[in-house]
Amino acid sequence: MNGRLAVIGLGPGDPRYLTPDAEAALRDAQALYGYAPYLNRVPVCAGQSRHPSDNREEGARAAAALRHAAQGARVAVVSGGDPGVFAMAAALCAEIEAGPESWRALDVVFVPGITAMLAVAAKIGAPFGHDFCAISLSDNLKPWQLVERRLDAAASAGFVIALYNPVSRARPWQFGHAIERLRAHLPAATPVVFGRAVGRPDEHVRVTSLAEADATPADMATLVIVGTRETRVIARSGQTALVYTPRAAAEVSA
Ligand code: SAH
Repeated sequence: MNGRLAVIGLGPGDPRYLTPDAEAALRDAQALYGYAPYLNRVPVCAGQSRHPSDNREEGARAAAALRHAAQGARVAVVSGGDPGVFAMAAALCAEIEAGPESWRALDVVFVPGITAMLAVAAKIGAPFGHDFCAISLSDNLKPWQLVERRLDAAASAGFVIALYNPVSRARPWQFGHAIERLRAHLPAATPVVFGRAVGRPDEHVRVTSLAEADATPADMATLVIVGTRETRVIARSGQTALVYTPRAAAEVSA
């Protein structure tokens, strides 16, 4: 029997952000694999086995799920947000590419989810109204010099930048360095949005500026959006501010 593997995005946290397609794929699975806190978000389904693992074990988790599917099972691997954004989908593709020929015969589906940058953006307006990019500040899988080069390139080219993985206990200084780096390209007043635990009970979204950004608390549950010279903040009485990047870019260079 041919096994099936579904790589499923759970969205940022709130079950309302789980797509009906993801819900159906979760129900259909006989075995669930994922980082333990993500698996804990999935309602228990009778007869379904659960295989939690640590966050740093992406390759091993992907290989275990593929071996299980190759035995003929319907296996699901879950990611927070979208599985293709700094998450399990690429880890699975890498294992399939390096693994036995039989893994290429598996029925593999990727089920998209709402990624953190879009969930945060929706809380605040339209920061990604014009050209944007996403950069992970984690230097676990790439050298810090490469992060710096990408920050320089993105800010100098006028992209709105979504920063994933801004801070962790093992990476305390990188965020401050990144903000300092961006200050070389962008005015101090450039709007910066911090979205923490969006879609969860402890959600918190705040708007600040590039001048204040490194003094603003951030952690592994935070996504940071750095605007461009054109990004605007609309203050509103009795309502949270709106942040948006106009659809039309006025300047040729940032
Ligand atoms: N696949 C995920 C991203 C994994 S990287 C996605 O598509 O969203 C993990 C990083 O995502 C975190 O460090 C944080 O920057 C961001 N993140 C994930 N969930 C979040 C949430 N609910 N609120 C804010 N940021 C979040």
